[in-house]
Amino acid sequence: MGEVGSRYDLRGDRSPDAPDTGSFAGTESQVGWIHSYETGSTVDGPGVRVVLFMAGCLLRCLYCHNPDTWHLKDGTRIELGRAVRRLANFAPALRSMGGGLTISGGEPLVQTAFTHGLFAAAKRMGLHTALDTSGFLGARASDDYLTNVDLVLLDIKSGDPETYRRATGAELEPTLHFARRLAALGKPVWVRFVLVPGLTDDPANIEAVAKFVGPMPNVEWVEVLPFHQMGEFKWKALGLDYRLATTPTPTDAQVESALAIFRRAGCRAR
Ligand code: SF4
Repeated sequence: MGEVGSRYDLRGDRSPDAPDTGSFAGTESQVGWIHSYETGSTVDGPGVRVVLFMAGCLLRCLYCHNPDTWHLKDGTRIELGRAVRRLANFAPALRSMGGGLTISGGEPLVQTAFTHGLFAAAKRMGLHTALDTSGFLGARASDDYLTNVDLVLLDIKSGDPETYRRATGAELEPTLHFARRLAALGKPVWVRFVLVPGLTDDPANIEAVAKFVGPMPNVEWVEVLPFHQMGEFKWKALGLDYRLATTPTPTDAQVESALAIFRRAGCRAR
């Protein structure tokens, strides 16, 4: 695949000739643009996993840890065949550790055809597959695409549309629509909610997410992820206006209250 590394490594301008992210239809299947990949993750799906971070995202979350994944041109260009061969090297170890492949980003559905090809290859290798997505481009994932995905890690960044807009610069409805579709398909989902003091922590906002996912039997877990400042240096290095510089990490008590809201709505939350 691209370069092994960490989601916290700053990458940029690796492929100046890459297509413009906003107008890219995601139909290129043989070539992809990748930020980095990690091996040995135990938090991005079951077992021990390879996590691939794709370049390209249409959202602009104020708390994004990885603004260096927003543009395809910042990723490293790679042929699908090479990515598949690299994954195959890890496959025996991943299978023996009950793990698999997680594709994250950025947003994997920006490069729909390429990630489809990689998921299909992973399934042929007998690997568990997970798609880590905001759901904003969920309409791009065909039922056939989802056949190759065992688990969706779905970031529902807010339950209130106005808060969602403020936090991400985009509309909430496409994500809710995708979540309903996953529920109708019975596709296993872990919902992820980033708790950001002063931005997403209004109890009414959390409750809106909780009430939405509570009745969905396909949602196996809701994970509350406390905001942290680990992405700040990237915003500064890229000359971007980082507006959460004074936002604190939530306290354990704040995380517990968010978890309690989810549990009251019938969710398994951690
Ligand atoms: S969806 Fe993810 S990669 Fe995209 S801006 Fe939000 S946090 Fe960053």
